[in-house]
Amino acid sequence: MMANHNIARLPVPNPVDSFWTAEPKKLDNHRSTEGLPSNADIVIIGSGLSGVATAYFLLKDNPNPPSIVLLEARGICSGATGRNGGHVKPDTYSDIPKFAKLFGIEAAAELAEFEASHVYAVKDLVQKERIDCDFHVTRALDVYLEPDHAKSVEATYNSVYKEGRVNLSDVTFTSEQDAERISGVKNAKALVSYTAAHLWPLKLVHGLVEKLIGKGLNVQAHTPADSVQESQAKTGSWLIKTSRGDIEAKQVIHATNAYVSYLLPEYRQSITPVRGVCCHIQGPQKKKNPHLPNTYGIRFDEVNNDYLIPRPDGSIIVGGAREAFWHKKNQYFDNIRDDELVKEASSYFDNYMQKYFRGWEDSDMKVQRIWTGILGYSFDYMPHVGQVPDKPGQFIIAGFTGYGMPKILLCGKGLAAMARDGVSFEATGLPKPFKTTVVRNRSQSNPLKESLQTLWEEQAKL
Ligand SMILES: Cc1cc2nc3c(=O)[nH]c(=O)nc-3n(C[C@H](O)[C@H](O)[C@H](O)COP(=O)(O)OP(=O)(O)OC[C@H]3O[C@@H](n4cnc5c(N)ncnc54)[C@H](O)[C@@H]3O)c2cc1C
Repeated sequence: MMANHNIARLPVPNPVDSFWTAEPKKLDNHRSTEGLPSNADIVIIGSGLSGVATAYFLLKDNPNPPSIVLLEARGICSGATGRNGGHVKPDTYSDIPKFAKLFGIEAAAELAEFEASHVYAVKDLVQKERIDCDFHVTRALDVYLEPDHAKSVEATYNSVYKEGRVNLSDVTFTSEQDAERISGVKNAKALVSYTAAHLWPLKLVHGLVEKLIGKGLNVQAHTPADSVQESQAKTGSWLIKTSRGDIEAKQVIHATNAYVSYLLPEYRQSITPVRGVCCHIQGPQKKKNPHLPNTYGIRFDEVNNDYLIPRPDGSIIVGGAREAFWHKKNQYFDNIRDDELVKEASSYFDNYMQKYFRGWEDSDMKVQRIWTGILGYSFDYMPHVGQVPDKPGQFIIAGFTGYGMPKILLCGKGLAAMARDGVSFEATGLPKPFKTTVVRNRSQSNPLKESLQTLWEEQAKL
């Protein structure tokens, strides 16, 4: 049965809890006022890191702060940001060939720099605003387990290094001889490492929201926006309709990530919801297990990889499990069901630490919780940021694909400059491929789908 588009694209109620959301937080269901204000300068839709980072920069050092209402369909930060792996892992080398092919080597180099700069941008924010969110700077270790894959990564690393167009000063390559001992991962065939960070993403967002409420932000949980229409009463304004009443606003910021096409159907082709899986692994308290000082990407082959962060309490968060379900399109592609688990992935993380890490064989580490979450995958892997084409006063910050933590904060800063000061996209300094355009929305090519097609076809043959 064809789902009604308007129902299909709103987040589903009652998502399964993640490790980060399980313990109730005081702002989960926050409503700053009992009723909705009927007017605001700006309405931001979506309370993940994108919406909240944008609100932060709209209000930061602003002598004439606009009135802002933040609408959230479910609990505050209950979308991807509240359900992710907590890894602030810039891609400083692995996707360079892919992005160079799509956008040119200069753009690929710019993207790598932009992501790397985020580790320090998030660090500065956390420090300056004193947000308690378990933030730690670390090295990310990408460990390659398949010999041919490891060889091709070494060749790529060497050629990108030799070309000298991309800054690899923070990126080191370690070959098979030392890879297992240095990484601690069994059978490692190669290792690439660089600076990254990990944190409790929901605490970062809630910490910021708390500060912003102090600056006048009106927060409304459990209030889905149902449509955005031209206001009949006030030329140049927009009417945001909700079941709790309507708000008229001069500007609207769509920070709804995977769900963006519910209110902006022109993004239906370019941003697709994709379901991801994460888990929390812990051992008995009395057991003194080794501590992992690094974060990890475990790369099984060119398609399958997991990502892992150590928690300061000795437990581990691991995400991925693609091998278990990425060949089954319906289980994740265009799927917004974060109220259920992916059954194919339910046992994927069993004995994970024991299987892959040296010295963890007797750790008794067990999966304590597993969950799903919905990512917004962009057809060309780039987020859409900027003025929504042909809708003056409406802006978008969405489509962060596999990882948003090393991109969102500075995108929020750039978007706030556009909305607040009328700065052009080009003047924000954001990477050019991020600019939202009609051409991208209408593109006939879809590199994302093309890359997945082979997996789906192989499954169809079985
Ligand atoms: C399982 C999983 C693991 C991940 N791991 C990592 C990781 O380790 N590192 C990393 O960098 N990235 C990771 N990601 C991706 C990362 O979480 C996202 O890129 C990022 O959180 C996107 O933030 P956002 O604010 O744009 O979207 P979201 O956090 O999804 O926020 C969008 C919000 O909009 C709300 N909303 C939608 N429609 C409406 C509406 N009509 N009205 C009102 N509200 C609405 C939603 O409820 C949601 O709260 C992971 C994602 C998942 C799901």
